[in-house]
Amino acid sequence: MLRFRSLGSGSSGNATLVEATSGLLTTRLLIDCGLGIRRLERSLAAEGLSAGDLDAVFITHEHSDHVGCARALALRARLPVHMSAGTHAALRERDFDGLLRVARDGEAIDLGALQVTPFAVPHDAREPLQLHCTDGAVRLGVLTDLGHVNEHVLAHLAGCRSLVLECNHDEEMLAGGPYPWFLKRRVGGDWGHLANSAAAQAARTLQAQGLQQVVAAHLSERNNTPDLARAALAEALGCGQEDIHVASATLGCGWLTA
Ligand SMILES: [Zn+2]
Ligand SMILES: [Zn+2]
Repeated sequence: MLRFRSLGSGSSGNATLVEATSGLLTTRLLIDCGLGIRRLERSLAAEGLSAGDLDAVFITHEHSDHVGCARALALRARLPVHMSAGTHAALRERDFDGLLRVARDGEAIDLGALQVTPFAVPHDAREPLQLHCTDGAVRLGVLTDLGHVNEHVLAHLAGCRSLVLECNHDEEMLAGGPYPWFLKRRVGGDWGHLANSAAAQAARTLQAQGLQQVVAAHLSERNNTPDLARAALAEALGCGQEDIHVASATLGCGWLTA
């Protein structure tokens, strides 16, 4: 069984917990650690878990809303930390005390009951990776922090039954919003963040390849609303807005079965 929940999602911090169970074996992966360590530990404790119950951490890229407390958490519980060589280089002298595991585009990582495959995405970071994971039966994709969806991304997400999908901004809200022009250009550009419309288009393409459940994530607090993200995805997928999950900045979302 494969299940997942966001512990918080947005520019103020991201963390997603993925849990695979096979027989007596349970494997837990934390994707990104962009929350303060106290908040993260509180979120885990609410699930009856501590850092020691995790098996690994995966850091998608070096932006602070994703790295956060990764080092402190990893060292405290002696957890392996997976990230690309570029992400590690961008963090500069972040020493992980032998816990660093270098992740590469397209190279599967076996974590026990969970197998993870990272893939490269277009985003303004050194070597950002997003990922899909499987318990051997179903596949979950995690896709945030990218400026546009390309063939490489779609190829990696084909066959995912569930997807955590960036719906960063509504294009009109971004254009008419308070950001200075250079920031609008960065966020809306090919190496920035995914608009609702682009996310909806990707979801529709992936629906034809088995996608059944979408969680909108990494919503901008200034340039988007949960209702706009939900409406864009529901229209593209031909489902009700109530069928679309939205991960909130502070609470994330509840457990979902992939
Ligand atoms: Zn981010
Ligand atoms: Zn980023």
